[in-house]
Amino acid sequence: MLKFNDHIALALSGGKDSLTLLNILVKLERRFPRSKLTAICVDEGIEGYRDEALLLATKMCRRLGIEQVTVSYKELFGITTDEIVKTLPDKTPCSYCGVLRRKAINKAALMVNATKIATAHNLDDEVQTVLLNILHGDPTRLLRSGPVLRDVRGRFLTRIKPLCDIPEKEVVLYAYLSGFEFQTIACPHGAEALRNDIRAFLNQMDQKHSGTKFTLQRSAERLRELLTERAPGTELNDCEKCGDPTPHRFCEACIMLETVMA
Ligand SMILES: [Zn+2]
Repeated sequence: MLKFNDHIALALSGGKDSLTLLNILVKLERRFPRSKLTAICVDEGIEGYRDEALLLATKMCRRLGIEQVTVSYKELFGITTDEIVKTLPDKTPCSYCGVLRRKAINKAALMVNATKIATAHNLDDEVQTVLLNILHGDPTRLLRSGPVLRDVRGRFLTRIKPLCDIPEKEVVLYAYLSGFEFQTIACPHGAEALRNDIRAFLNQMDQKHSGTKFTLQRSAERLRELLTERAPGTELNDCEKCGDPTPHRFCEACIMLETVMA
């Protein structure tokens, strides 16, 4: 996942996962003088939630002496997640927020000249996404997830997930044993309903049949290998609005912003 001279942009939210990854990457970075680590924080504009997390993230960056860059939806896209929610009939902005967060992290990482983006998805997040993609009837989406996402066309920065084989429980344990403060309240806009059901199902399965999550992760890896051999590479265009690479005329984020800001 990492090279000795990588400049890693770590997506830091202030939750247990990203703070744990920050603590681990800092130790690695210190052993490799030509590597660099920058924390990227995104302010989605979620009152009473993100503000607390950003404070915790800033506190940790200062303590570890890590450079921190914060970008906000308001300045990048002209709208906050709280404002997006008001325009949606079902009031669940997760898919919108997710697309915009990826774009914001990418922009910030390019701004600081990073070579890779690291996110703190753990084993539980990863296998939930595998089942989500399958239940949404879109197994080819598996190719757009996984431990290392490399764009062979070189248009997107490589994304890595160093905690992808670590169960969530172990990340929590690391965070508690390290004794650092992390955000424990959940987003006020709730989580995707289907993901919540999948989380409960996988926890139940793993309790009854130990190792289920690891097996599912391995199966997804094998499926990715098979899909990569078969899937034709898509051509990329420049989004006609923002210039970012996209297989369509406009990128996903610009299409979403158009609908919520109309
Ligand atoms: Zn665009």
